[in-house]
Amino acid sequence: MTTSVPPEHPRFPNGISLYVHVPFCLSKCPYCDFNTYQGIEEMKAPYVDALVREVRLWGGLLDHPRLNTIFFGGGTPSYMAAGQVEAIMDAVRASFPLGVDAEVTLESNPGDVTSAFLESMLSLGMNRLSIGVQALDDSLLQMLGRRHTADQAREALQLSRSAGCSNINVDLMYGLPNQTLDQWERSLGSALDLAPEHLSLYCLTLEEGTPLKRWVDEGSLPTPDPDLCADMYGHARSAMKGAGYVHYEISNWAVPGRHSVHNMAYWENGPYLGVGPGAHSSLDGRRFWDVTSPRQYIQRSRQWEPEAYLSVGGMAWELLSEQGPLGGSETIDNRTEMAETMVLGLRLLEGLDPEGFRKRFGRLPVEVYGDQVAQLVRDGLLEEDGGKLKLTEASLFLSNQVFMRFLD
Ligand code: SF4
Repeated sequence: MTTSVPPEHPRFPNGISLYVHVPFCLSKCPYCDFNTYQGIEEMKAPYVDALVREVRLWGGLLDHPRLNTIFFGGGTPSYMAAGQVEAIMDAVRASFPLGVDAEVTLESNPGDVTSAFLESMLSLGMNRLSIGVQALDDSLLQMLGRRHTADQAREALQLSRSAGCSNINVDLMYGLPNQTLDQWERSLGSALDLAPEHLSLYCLTLEEGTPLKRWVDEGSLPTPDPDLCADMYGHARSAMKGAGYVHYEISNWAVPGRHSVHNMAYWENGPYLGVGPGAHSSLDGRRFWDVTSPRQYIQRSRQWEPEAYLSVGGMAWELLSEQGPLGGSETIDNRTEMAETMVLGLRLLEGLDPEGFRKRFGRLPVEVYGDQVAQLVRDGLLEEDGGKLKLTEASLFLSNQVFMRFLD
């Protein structure tokens, strides 16, 4: 018997990544500025219909490239009914071939993680669960407006493990108003006791327009101390190392071999498609994004058939913005792509490979950014190590200062 190997895709021979945005949350957390909403549950069913149409649309327009990863993010994907996630997965499978080892991640809130939920998700092909724990301290969880307790978060992890999830990420936040170093050490230690394969540790950003920012501005909560945040990051670095995790990106740690394949595609500035309200895509030297409003997204979706756009010839960007899912699109010029490749690549602890950069752009980073690189090396913020360009220990927590030099 012979097996046929699918022909290589002419535009995306190495495949692409898919991000699926779910814009629903049971309640809006006061620190969150993502494109998510509470109180629009009546849109869930029509949103799934629209999303299915968008997935089919891109499958046809892109000529069905292979998916290396799928990431259900949001919002709260675990707030969808299993049947709704199944309808989306069915559309994805019908529109795109999946890589043999495709990583399929679903973000979930601890309160949604039940035995029935886990059984459904595993049967739908999810092989990575990302749990938004955020803190393992009830007073901090309350301030963050989270609906779960620390005990519920622990139970969610234990339940996931016993249900057969073998690739679990935990999100935790530090640098919170009123959070002490001792609280952070205990939260992280408690998370490590649960032995997830991956941890994303984020320093809180006070986003403009959020209630948490307003509370801090008004003085009802203290401003987080940046020196304390740096100490918390330093503690994380040593605790994670002591527990055997590899620090592979500024905010991400994994047991060996369990890094996030999906996020690596972003950091390597690879091609990805985003579907759902507000989702961004970067493909073929073009960046495009869906309309932000779930209502508008749903209203427009009835006209989404690949044939309507393919008949125009080429990629009908204007039409896709007028009637299709897009809110806009722009060409990524060479200079922007180089700068973004630098910034994203430097996020990785192993550093940016100058040779890979040269293969992609025809020039080495020092030929494009010689002055910036030399100055950053003199300032102790960048180093050359093993042929790679890397952030230094001193600049890991100050990486934005480095990145700004490439994004003029
Ligand atoms: S659950 Fe997540 S996405 Fe939803 S509001 Fe809270 S932080 Fe934002």
